[in-house]
Amino acid sequence: MSESGGGPERYSHLDRPVQFLKGVGPKRADALVSLGITTARELLYHTPRRYDDASTVEPIARLEVGMDATAVGRVRTKGVIPTRKGLRIFQAVLQDETGMITVAWPGQAWLDRKIREGDMLLVTGPVRFFHGRQIQPREYTVLARGGDESRKEGTIFVSYPASEEVPQWVLRGIFEKNLDALLGWADEDEYLSPKMLADLGLPSLSRALTLLHRPATLADARAGRRRMAWDELFFLQVVQAQARRVQAEAQRGVAHVRTNALIRPLHESLPYQLTEAQARVLREVYGDMTAERRMNRLLQGDVGSGKTVVALFAMLLSAEGGRQAVLMAPTEILAEQHARRVGELVAPIGLEVELLTGRLGAAQRRQALERIRTGEARLVVGTHALIQDRVAFHDLGLVVVDEQHRFGVRQRMALAEAGGGGADVLIMSATPIPRSLALALYGDLDLSILDELPPGRRPVRTALRTPDRRDAVYRFVEEEVDAGRQAYVVYPLVAESEKVDLLAATQEFERLRAEVFPGRRLGLLHGQLSSDEKDRVMRAFLAGDVDILVSTTVIEVGIDVPNASVMIIEHAERFGLSQLHQLRGRVGRGAAESHCILVAEPGEEAAERLKIFRDTSDGFAVARADLRIRGQGDFFGAQQHGVPVLRFADLEQDEDLLVRAQAEARALVERDPGLADPAHATLRTHLNARYRERLEMFGVG
Ligand code: ADP
Ligand code: MG
Repeated sequence: MSESGGGPERYSHLDRPVQFLKGVGPKRADALVSLGITTARELLYHTPRRYDDASTVEPIARLEVGMDATAVGRVRTKGVIPTRKGLRIFQAVLQDETGMITVAWPGQAWLDRKIREGDMLLVTGPVRFFHGRQIQPREYTVLARGGDESRKEGTIFVSYPASEEVPQWVLRGIFEKNLDALLGWADEDEYLSPKMLADLGLPSLSRALTLLHRPATLADARAGRRRMAWDELFFLQVVQAQARRVQAEAQRGVAHVRTNALIRPLHESLPYQLTEAQARVLREVYGDMTAERRMNRLLQGDVGSGKTVVALFAMLLSAEGGRQAVLMAPTEILAEQHARRVGELVAPIGLEVELLTGRLGAAQRRQALERIRTGEARLVVGTHALIQDRVAFHDLGLVVVDEQHRFGVRQRMALAEAGGGGADVLIMSATPIPRSLALALYGDLDLSILDELPPGRRPVRTALRTPDRRDAVYRFVEEEVDAGRQAYVVYPLVAESEKVDLLAATQEFERLRAEVFPGRRLGLLHGQLSSDEKDRVMRAFLAGDVDILVSTTVIEVGIDVPNASVMIIEHAERFGLSQLHQLRGRVGRGAAESHCILVAEPGEEAAERLKIFRDTSDGFAVARADLRIRGQGDFFGAQQHGVPVLRFADLEQDEDLLVRAQAEARALVERDPGLADPAHATLRTHLNARYRERLEMFGVG
């Protein structure tokens, strides 16, 4: 045990090195490291990854050819059988109370060294006919070794995450000897009061771990999982709440004063009514801005949901109280686009927009900087470089960040600091992600969601085509171009790689130009171009000097070309649904009916996904489907790196827990930011022991 330095840490059984548990010893302790287990606590929390209900485990006598079955039995005999073709098959005969069956692993003779006679095996796989019934397992687990069973199996078979060094049966042996003691110590980690547990409807830690390790039913395991999910989500939210507090404390916020001197005239001059969602989000934003606390809010909304006008109202609140507001875009084109749009909206109320980009000449730039410094420029639009260049503001009250790629927590904090003296921060994101995911990823921010499109918007017509229909697709593009409109053709890769047979943008660009669309003006855009070149191509498309833009996914950025009415996406099966949605959002921004045509190989699984996409125009619904299909691990990975690994929590199922966890965590951190109160000692120890490391990876520690 470590010498506790006189601190308040209590002596804990769970901190004991795993080596000193029964049946472990130095050698197995070394091996257990491969599973991330070094202490008694880590062993206790090493819960099963899989549960098989005995009622769904088929008695061997009832196994029939064609079934996909899970069976459990003892190995009676076993051996390696050579075939005439030189393939060596490992076979075992499995027996339960009802009968026997052969289990065969073609080509896996080495299993002869792993599986012994008398082993209790759980196997899952198809039942085939080959000299009689035979299972060919996809998966197998040695549930027990040897004839003696110190503990009778319940009706649920559990399988632990195991490794080459620590196979299943060894782990099960260790648990058999130690689980009673471990569960007896579990309450050392309990930080929730009985009242709170009852309120949340969750089992205590020791109960939850008992349910996970020794479930009587599958419902038991689910109840145990939910408690662990709570811990995971709550701890994540505690750390994020701490980060949120640090941000708020670092700078006193600005309490904006709402006079309506600018807000009301804009309402009156707008050619439309705000949607319900816009009005709701604005109330949230105004609430934050007029409060002393510094705003740090994420505004999520689908393409076209009207984020810009929301941002503008927020900017006017800042301006009418006498402070400046700045809107930052990821690229110069987008900054110009914002400046133009915002400029049009504020012209009727007598305001101007100061645009600051790298394209200004030296003299113009000097003058713009001067107007920003004196405060004459009240509404400023520019690129992210704006903050990197340490532009001096007279009195900056609000920073709106139009986000292209999601920033990590650290970057966002840096951005907010650079924004200057306590300015409020509003981050706009046009990549909808499910609410639960947003809560998990951006728990340090407050969340506003524009979940309603302005009326009268026509959805983009989406169609699926197989590659053999490509000629018809090209003819359609011709027709649209003849009608004076423009088209995108999107490919997943830049240059053809030898390994993957994909149509690559550069090669296809040449082919389309020479063979398919001679006489049309084609442009090529991809990530390998310099930003100047990209800018040039995009401007040509924007100006209508290019009919067909061949591109990789770099056009994802929120560029607005209202005249573009068709998008062809090649190898659509290679894209995630959210990314497809992002791409699709580039069309349907003008008056003409717009089309998105997905060209994809007709693989079954891909076709299912793409059909969902074709039939769903709501970005949040697309994102939820994407999350469900890809699973949260993969989805996280694609969203950004450095996100927490959630082992128990399921963002879809546990959204209620997550919402509650955020509220509880924020309240806790308000009361006791450093968790220094002795009443929070258990929580602090538990949090540190189990989650700190992972949370630090997440970048909020
Ligand atoms: P986003 O930035 O969320 O993609 P925009 O702010 O660009 O969306 O808005 C898309 C279009 O919808 C713009 O042309 C805008 O003028 C228009 N718009 C915004 N809000 C409304 C509304 N409440 N009613 C009608 N049109 C709206
Ligand atoms: Mg916009």
